[in-house]
Amino acid sequence: MTLDGYVREFEAGGYEVTHVVESVCGGCGGRAFGVQLTDECAVRRTCLGCGAAAFMADSAEYWEDDDAEECACPCGGEEFAAALGVSCRPDGEVRWVSVGLRCLACGQCGVYEDWKIDYSPSSHLLTLA
Ligand SMILES: [Zn+2]
Ligand SMILES: [Zn+2]
Repeated sequence: MTLDGYVREFEAGGYEVTHVVESVCGGCGGRAFGVQLTDECAVRRTCLGCGAAAFMADSAEYWEDDDAEECACPCGGEEFAAALGVSCRPDGEVRWVSVGLRCLACGQCGVYEDWKIDYSPSSHLLTLA
């Protein structure tokens, strides 16, 4: 299954995933990342090509370096393709986001984090994959 398909089928929060946006490094166009997350539902991806780091969705607001842990696939792999799953309400505002990762070593997909969005405007989150 593709990462896009996996994230849609997962339906984080029980809501239809209306958009899946693949993560692409803004620095070099790379699509392979090391990924860290914290227990505050914050996710940061770091490009394996150029080292540029970016926060997914609104993670920058909740990020705590001290809490950050490296995501690892059950196979032990720590290199991923990443995508942001977004569930939008009919009015276009975001109600839920999820972070899908596909292990580049074994191909297994997973949703590693998801959280509720309860403010607006929120449509800019679609640009923060
Ligand atoms: Zn890069
Ligand atoms: Zn793996």
